[in-house]
Amino acid sequence: MALEVATEQHRAKNREYSRKYSAKTRAQINDKARACRAKNPEKVREYNREYDAKNRDRINGQERARRAKNSEQINERAREYHAANREQINERKREYDAANSSAKCEKTRNRVHNLAPGQYDDMLAAQSGLCAICGKPETALSSSGGVRALAVDHCHDTGVRGGLLCHRCNAGIGLLNDDPALFRAAIDYLESVRPRLRIA
Ligand SMILES: [Zn+2]
Repeated sequence: MALEVATEQHRAKNREYSRKYSAKTRAQINDKARACRAKNPEKVREYNREYDAKNRDRINGQERARRAKNSEQINERAREYHAANREQINERKREYDAANSSAKCEKTRNRVHNLAPGQYDDMLAAQSGLCAICGKPETALSSSGGVRALAVDHCHDTGVRGGLLCHRCNAGIGLLNDDPALFRAAIDYLESVRPRLRIA
């Protein structure tokens, strides 16, 4: 009995000693590591980049799980932040869009339509900057408030490109399924039925 008590006291003493020891050495180790990081910021960035690249899937998975678990709280905080900073956020977005929209659009357009840099401008110059159907310049506005670029007409199945069209004409031919037979029927209708409507 006495021996057990003594052993337990001894263990408790040991635990206390290692707790103090590791707290002290941990502080020393942390100080050293902090000093080392401060001295080599480039090395730290490089290490972090490599670490992130190696562990991307795991980190993304953890982040997704964290977001899923706390989605209510995260959404609530985002809503509060947006409400408190609405003006500033909108202003920043306007500035960003104005500065980046044309470059961003060009990049997206080139990627989507498999255009080489400058190819769109060549097509535009060949059409004198005008729509291939109505022969007018584009007037429709983009979401950032500037005039839209003429759309690259293309086949959705083959990706083969046609001319550049204004928003109205592009939408118009799409509404009739890009189908010449439907367009001929529409012309017949406009020329034969519509005039009778006007007279009546
Ligand atoms: Zn047009």
